[in-house]
Amino acid sequence: MSESKTVKFKLNGREVEAPEGRLLIDAAKDAGVEIPHYCYHPALGNPGNCRLCVVEVQGAPKPLVSCRTFVKEGMVVASDSPAAMRAQQSSLELHLVNHPLDCPVCDQSGECGLQDYYMEIGRYESQVREDKLHKGKRIEAGPHVMLDQERCILCTRCTRFVDEVTKTHELGIFGRGHGQYIDLVPGKTLDNPYSGNVVDICPVGALTEKDFRYKVRVWYLDETDSVCPGCSRGCSTSVHTNTERPWHNDGRRVARIKPRHNPEVNGWWICDDGRFGYDSLDHDRLGRVMRLKDQRRELSWTEAFEEIASALASRSAGKGAGGLVVIASGMLSNEDWAAFKVLFVDTLGVKHFVFGPEPDQLGEEDELLRKREKVPNLKGGQAQGFGTEIPSASWDSLAKDIEAGKVWGLYVVERDLTKVWGQRTADLLSKLGLVIFQGPNKTATGDLAHYRLPATAYVEEEGHFTNFGGTVQAYKKALEPLGSAKPDWAIFHGLAEHLAGDRREEAVA
Ligand code: SF4
Ligand code: SF4
Repeated sequence: MSESKTVKFKLNGREVEAPEGRLLIDAAKDAGVEIPHYCYHPALGNPGNCRLCVVEVQGAPKPLVSCRTFVKEGMVVASDSPAAMRAQQSSLELHLVNHPLDCPVCDQSGECGLQDYYMEIGRYESQVREDKLHKGKRIEAGPHVMLDQERCILCTRCTRFVDEVTKTHELGIFGRGHGQYIDLVPGKTLDNPYSGNVVDICPVGALTEKDFRYKVRVWYLDETDSVCPGCSRGCSTSVHTNTERPWHNDGRRVARIKPRHNPEVNGWWICDDGRFGYDSLDHDRLGRVMRLKDQRRELSWTEAFEEIASALASRSAGKGAGGLVVIASGMLSNEDWAAFKVLFVDTLGVKHFVFGPEPDQLGEEDELLRKREKVPNLKGGQAQGFGTEIPSASWDSLAKDIEAGKVWGLYVVERDLTKVWGQRTADLLSKLGLVIFQGPNKTATGDLAHYRLPATAYVEEEGHFTNFGGTVQAYKKALEPLGSAKPDWAIFHGLAEHLAGDRREEAVA
């Protein structure tokens, strides 16, 4: 394979190298020089219509647009010379001619391309004396996105996104001259499964998230690297939280979720399910360790480990480990799966697992990102042998075994059995002497269990997920656990320790 040729050129007085044929704007970025721009986006091309990325190139009769100029051997480029800065300033001034002075009430404030570049390369005295042109404000573009036509600078990033990425064509540019405006194509709503991405790529406050608007100023947000657990793609995300001061949070702790650029997994995008589907992090959460049957009461973790370990050990000894079935969850991290195996396979000798993309874990798939398995880490379980060396049973055969009295106990991890068994669930579970439910959220299954153990949500712990393609990614802790919740691995580990302790005591006796 032929290696691409490297060219040398001068940028702001410094000699730099770049592969031949690289766009000047990209080559400058590689060399640590960010040239101001609006319309150019690495995933959406370079129409060159915003004219902000103009630079001075020695020998060229006028400033050139760096997003449409390729590097050449011996080129001498200046993005910070007086001529280049004047050209950038003029472009910026044009963008601001009709832009409203909304900053104090605009949700983009603090992360706005107009604000940032005005402070960086602008700071001019406005020469505009005419009234600004007024256009539509507070337009509901779709279920997740609000449009403010006055703030739009017509960079066309959003129209290119819906034309080229989702190919759903909901947005267009209408009108002529300086009366041009962005709008919905008649009869369309911005409701494609990736609609939230237009908010990220809009460099100004023209497109904002309904879910996030007016909740909290962006400069109060903390950002934590995370991985979306919404499907087996495992998109790289950033979880934005504000734990330091009050905000209009409607009882939630996560302010918003944004994509984190990862060329191997999700590129620049995430889907709306992953972006907006975090209600369960704060609603219907389990925070207390509970014994729900035989004198219902809250337990300490030590009491729960002792009671459950002793119940598991005595029933396994009396009725055989074959009568205990474990319902596994693809929500577990790699760390959880390792502890899961130690507890259930190595310590208890369990033979029957329900594992795999069962009907309750499947959903829509498309060619862009969304995968059919709506859990992040079935691969992590497979790496421990589940579903391969350790076979898994089907829901039907499990229901038959329970009916036939072959099962004495169920350990359910983060699954709601009513999604597969429906109204039969209560009847089936009532036939069992021991049902343990473990998970972060309330479920009908949890309410029917003998013991209910609160687990942390993924934003309250750290760990790794292995996605459908085998890519392992780390996610970090963004929030403290609610109530007494523990990571799943810590619960499995606590039970395995207590079971091992019981066995040591038996051996001594
Ligand atoms: S709405 Fe935003 S992304 Fe779309 S054209 Fe206007 S400024 Fe660009
Ligand atoms: S594609 Fe899957 S992993 Fe990516 S954001 Fe959507 S639900 Fe999350």
